Amino acid sequence: MAKYVYFFGATGTEGDGKQKNLLGGKGANLAEMCRIGLPVPAGFTITTDVCNYYYANNKTYPAELRAQIDEAMRKTEAEMGAKFGDTKNPLLVSCRSGARVSMPGMMDTVLNIGLNEKTLEGLINSTQNERFAWDCYRRFIQMYGDVVLDLKPTNKKEIDPFEHILEELKHEKHVELDTDLSVGDLKELVKRFKAAVKEKKGSEFPDDPMEQMLGAAAAVFHSWNNDRAIVYRRQYGYPHEWGTAVNICSMVFGNMGNDSGTGVAFTRDPATGDDVFYGEYLINAQGEDVVAGIRTPKKIQELEKEMPASYRQLQEIRKKLEAHYRDVQDIEFTIQKGKLWMLQTRNGKRTGFAAVHFAVDMVDEGLITWNEALSVGRIPPDDLNQLLQPIFDPAAKRDAKTIAKGINAGPGAASGVIKFFADDAEAYVKQYGKPDAHGKIPPEGRVILVRRETSPEDLRGMQAADGILTAFGGASSHAALVSRQMGKVCIVGCDKLKIDYDKLTMTVGDQVFKDGDFISIDGFTGEVMAGRVATKPSEVVQVLISKTMKPEESKTYQKFARLMAEADKVRKLKIRTNADQPDQSLQAIAFGAQGIGLCRTEHMFFDHITDFRKMILAKDDPAKNEARKRADIVSVFIDGNYFKTIEVDRELVAGEERRTVKTTEAVITEREQALVALLKYQRQDFYGIFKAMKGFPVTIRTLDPPLHEFLPHEEKSVADVASQMGISADAIHARVKELHEFNPMLGFRGCRLGIVFPEITAMQARAIIEAACDVALEGIPVEPEIMIPLVGFPAELKAQAKIVHDVAKHVFAEKKITIPYLVGTMIELPRAAMAADKIVSDGGAQFFSFGTNDLTQTGLGMSRDDYGSFIRHYAENDIIAKDPFQVIDFDGVGLLMKTGVEKGRTADPELKIGICGEHGGEPDSVKFCHKIGLNYVSCSPFRVPIARLAAAQAVLEEKK
Ligand code: ADP
Ligand code: MG
Ligand code: MG
Repeated sequence: MAKYVYFFGATGTEGDGKQKNLLGGKGANLAEMCRIGLPVPAGFTITTDVCNYYYANNKTYPAELRAQIDEAMRKTEAEMGAKFGDTKNPLLVSCRSGARVSMPGMMDTVLNIGLNEKTLEGLINSTQNERFAWDCYRRFIQMYGDVVLDLKPTNKKEIDPFEHILEELKHEKHVELDTDLSVGDLKELVKRFKAAVKEKKGSEFPDDPMEQMLGAAAAVFHSWNNDRAIVYRRQYGYPHEWGTAVNICSMVFGNMGNDSGTGVAFTRDPATGDDVFYGEYLINAQGEDVVAGIRTPKKIQELEKEMPASYRQLQEIRKKLEAHYRDVQDIEFTIQKGKLWMLQTRNGKRTGFAAVHFAVDMVDEGLITWNEALSVGRIPPDDLNQLLQPIFDPAAKRDAKTIAKGINAGPGAASGVIKFFADDAEAYVKQYGKPDAHGKIPPEGRVILVRRETSPEDLRGMQAADGILTAFGGASSHAALVSRQMGKVCIVGCDKLKIDYDKLTMTVGDQVFKDGDFISIDGFTGEVMAGRVATKPSEVVQVLISKTMKPEESKTYQKFARLMAEADKVRKLKIRTNADQPDQSLQAIAFGAQGIGLCRTEHMFFDHITDFRKMILAKDDPAKNEARKRADIVSVFIDGNYFKTIEVDRELVAGEERRTVKTTEAVITEREQALVALLKYQRQDFYGIFKAMKGFPVTIRTLDPPLHEFLPHEEKSVADVASQMGISADAIHARVKELHEFNPMLGFRGCRLGIVFPEITAMQARAIIEAACDVALEGIPVEPEIMIPLVGFPAELKAQAKIVHDVAKHVFAEKKITIPYLVGTMIELPRAAMAADKIVSDGGAQFFSFGTNDLTQTGLGMSRDDYGSFIRHYAENDIIAKDPFQVIDFDGVGLLMKTGVEKGRTADPELKIGICGEHGGEPDSVKFCHKIGLNYVSCSPFRVPIARLAAAQAVLEEKK
């Protein structure tokens, strides 16, 4: 018979911590805590199989289920010494959802199930506490009404009917706090609550305990498919098929007076990573109160004074849990009349900082090995981003005006304009938060989302914002948990803020801040500052890049460096960077890059745009071209400044052809003259890069973008260019028109430019080889790799490679030095991937680099510039799981890559292959690159550490 229900308790626990798929994370850990002897109120878990059965069978349950529930309930009753539905000594239970992974706020828990007028009497009787019993009852009706009977408001502006009644009553009774309500008031409240249910639902509030419990379980199964849960799963890529379990757990009460309480804690600080017990609690409260962020709780350390015995016991449990789980735990506990009960444990969510600190500290403490420290479960590679994030410039911060202080829940520094609603934040960032040409988002395009508290509806707005600031809630509120996971700067519980959603204002004392005003928040300290405060780089960046901090001054840096060193020992992939300038290259080396995988030459041209435009606008010169063709000449630069090799005399000397060069400038074309000017700049740039890279390989791509990108389009800039160049605006217009393309990404670009204008390739090849020779002559090793873009046909590469090899031969002769260099190609067209063997054998490729941006565009027939209009719809409707421009489309584009690797290596088993598309810094894509046997990945400098870690994880995951 199928087993659908698993009991847990002090004796006879059926499940264990490994059964997360079946029991959900919460259920598995409740069982595990029982197994290691922690005090857990008995109960049972209804498995995820039941959830899946429920959805597969028209929302019905397996026939055996009810009997299994009854049996588990009997065991629970026996252990707790009370009976569910009993009128003398009733057992109450909670109904708690729990999927494999925790989904904060996604699924709703109902407490105090089993209460009705009769069992209430029993509860009063058994506890001798009438006020408490009525308090439980009114909480139960509200929660059950909201969650199971669906009376919870669906949007922010609506109010909860129960809250409304409660506020009304408090007003009538002239009291401020719930705890000021008398027993009589609570009775009245229950009456009004029940009447509200009757009015809204048309039927009485259910009295039968079993009906209540099964109703709550069904609501949990339903909540698996509510919008919030679906959005969350989509965001984190969790399959909808997992299903959720339901945990029925005996109630323990933190609201039985001042010797009771409830709290949540992390076994270490999840924000900074410090090894301190980090948590908070409320006296005389039920669990929900801490998590909901309505009352601001006390720090766990204060419990030591208030309830020393429980505090000591918690400290022991803290150690025991860490030793058992070998990871930092996030726990929930309740103290009922001085007795401690554990209600939950799970691996604690953490910031990137904390992840690194925890992992390295736990290695030092002997709890885990380095390989475990490096695992994706401990440190998702993207989390390293947070260590590289900016902090406030101390000087600027000293001058800033701190207006309030809250709880520092997500580290980092953020400055931006105030938005009070998630939708507004999202819309604002969409409109003003576009990155500029250097990829920087302007300060006025950044948002701080300011709210009383956040909920799952706010996820998108939180994603869009740079920082999140809430007036209520503690370090485990929704805002805090989600921000940490997203790596956002976050401050919660800033109770000085008065937020008015209607007027769109935030008031602190007598200062009023409006929607659109600037504020700055320091997620390390919890400080909120008026206006814009300048930020400065992270400690890691200060040690490695700006050198404004010494390694020994930063603990974070030290741990980061140790972790990276271990990752480097494990990984097989080399990590290169995409960099166009010497300073970027140096940054990347500091971050651990082992070469440049993509140096785009066109960025250099933007710095010398007038000369480049002259080159583009140059007229063709058929007569000169003809003369040169007769002389069998490709463009050659003799002294690096002029085209002079125009006429050649050939004679045979001792059987070998000797070419004597007569120089005349008469047949130099306009285009070549423009190229001569550019040569100088390119050579300088490459010289700088080779020097900085000190012998690391440098892959330089020849000109790639469509030429029209460099031309002026607006009337004013056309006029400017025309006057600068001494030609008419009409001439420019005419050329722009000539170069117009309907689909430039598939047009005259890439190697097609160099095929039609070989002199461009020749100039670039000369600049590269000359610079490399000059650096080599200074005794610094060089390793240039010249990469031809957008090759589809082997003949394209062959023609371009010939130019490079010819130029190199000349330059070597001139400089009297020979250096090693390679000519290879990007694989960024499906044809190139499919014909990769021919590209090597016939085209002469000496290396490949996958240009996955274009390979994705051309492989999917999806333009990166135009896919925005439909990609979100695709994601929301589960057409594709991940954005293919962020994560390699493994089944399609990935297969092209795999084919390219295999075919390329049939022609040359030693072929060096890398990737230089944006995907090269995305962890899952890095792992894929490892799997298909690439030699290296290349990514932007700040992603180098992420790629290093991902590459190590690729090896470790392979071993499993
Ligand atoms: P979530 O997954 O949202 O944290 P939980 O099921 O853990 O939901 O419960 C919500 C709150 O109710 C928590 O604070 C928890 O400690 C408390 N709670 C749940 N079950 C019980 C119980 N049986 N007795 C006392 N408090 C409980
Ligand atoms: Mg919980
Ligand atoms: Mg490309």
